[in-house]
Amino acid sequence: MNKEPVSRELFDDVMVPNYAPGSIIPVRGEGSRIWDQEGREFIDLQGGIAVNCLGHSHPGLIGALQEQSEKIWHLSNVMTNEPALRLAKTLCDLTFAERVFFANSGGEANEAAFKLVRRYAWEHSGPEKHEIISFKGAFHGRTLFTVSVGGQPKYLEGFEPAPGGIHHADFNDLESVRKLISKEKTCAVVVEPIQGESGVVPGDLEFLKGLRQLCDDHDALLVFDEVQSGVGRTGHLYAYQMYGVVPDILTSAKGLGGGFPVAAMLTTANIAASLGVGTHGSTYGGNALACAVAQKVIDTVSQPEILKGVKVRSDHLRKGMMDLGERYGIFSEVRGAGLLLGCVLTEKWQGRAKEFLNAGLDEGVMVLIAGPNVIRLAPSLIIPDADIDEALERFEAAVKTLTA
Ligand SMILES: *Cc1c(COP(=O)(O)O)cnc(C)c1O
Repeated sequence: MNKEPVSRELFDDVMVPNYAPGSIIPVRGEGSRIWDQEGREFIDLQGGIAVNCLGHSHPGLIGALQEQSEKIWHLSNVMTNEPALRLAKTLCDLTFAERVFFANSGGEANEAAFKLVRRYAWEHSGPEKHEIISFKGAFHGRTLFTVSVGGQPKYLEGFEPAPGGIHHADFNDLESVRKLISKEKTCAVVVEPIQGESGVVPGDLEFLKGLRQLCDDHDALLVFDEVQSGVGRTGHLYAYQMYGVVPDILTSAKGLGGGFPVAAMLTTANIAASLGVGTHGSTYGGNALACAVAQKVIDTVSQPEILKGVKVRSDHLRKGMMDLGERYGIFSEVRGAGLLLGCVLTEKWQGRAKEFLNAGLDEGVMVLIAGPNVIRLAPSLIIPDADIDEALERFEAAVKTLTA
C-alpha cells in the first residue's frame, strides 16, 4: 500500500489542474473541527460546501456505514437492496414524492430530472415540447446538460455545442419567464429555490409561487434543484416546505449522504412513469452503503429538534456576522436561510471575498465564498454554540488583519 508522505505540491504533478486547492491538507475531523497534517486546528464553517450536515465523524453515520459494510456493499440494479428501498420509502413519507431515483451526485440527479422532463413531455405532447427554462446565475452541475441548463456561461465555454432548447430567464423576475414560456414548447422550468453558487440568493415567495402557477397554466413541470438547499439546510427538510410551493420534481444530493456520495431525484408516480424500464440508469445509484448512510442522515436531520436547532444556530451565526459586518463596515447584507448564509461585501470590498477566506484560514476558521463578493457559510447543522462563538472570534481576528 502506498503510504508515502504527500504534500500540496504533489497536486500539480499528478492531478488534472481543474481545481486550485489551498495549501493545507486536512487529515482528521470531529464535529465542526478539522485538523491538518501539521496538527493545526480549524473550525469548519464550509461543511464541505453544504455536505457535512452532521459535521465530521458523526458516531451515528460511522455506525451506519460500519454496520452496512459488514453486510453487503453493492448489488447492481439487476437486484434491488434493503437500504435503497427503506430510504426511498422514508423520502416518500417525508415529502411530496411518490417515486425516487437514486444517483451519486447533484449533477447526476439533475441530469436524470432534465431527461425526465423531456421524456414526459415527449410522451404526453410530442417532440415539439422540449424547451427548458432556467435562470441566469443558476448552478446545476458540471455534466454537459447541467452546465447548459445552468446559467453561468463561463462553465460552458469551449465545451460547445451545447444541447439545444434551453432558455435563461432572470431569477426573481416572473415577467422574464412569462416572455419565454409557451404551452407548445416549454416542458419544464428549473430553479434553485435559493441560488447557492451565485451568491446565496433566496427566491422570493411570490416568484416561486408564480413559477408554480405559470407551469400549471402551460402544462410544464416545475423542477426544484435542492442539491444545496435540501436536507435540513434551511431549518426545513427541504426548502420547498419552507416556501409552501410544491415542485413536480426535486433533486437532492450534497447533505443527503453527510459526506458519502449519494443523490436522489424525487417525483410523483405519474411523472415517474415516463422513465420506464431501460430508459435511464446508474451503476452505483442506490448503492447499499450510500443508502444506509443517507438513511441515518435523513432519520437524524428530520427530527424536529434538529430542524428547530438549525433556526436557533442560524440566528446566532447571522447576528454575529451582521454585528461584525457593521463594526468593520464590510457587509451590506447577510442573506439566505437557516445555515446557508451569504454575507455580501460592501462596495469598498467588492471582488475580495477570497482574501477573507484566506485570512480566515490563517486564524483557524474555514469559510466559503460564492462568487467574488459573497462570503458563504454552510456549517454542520448541529454545530455547537461554543464553536459558533469561537468561529466568530477567529473570523473577527481575520477581518481585523485585513482591514488594518
Ligand atoms: C453542488 C450543486 C450541484 C452539483 O452537485 P455535484 O454533486 O457537484 O454534481 C447542483 N446543483 C446545485 C444547486 C448545487 O449546489
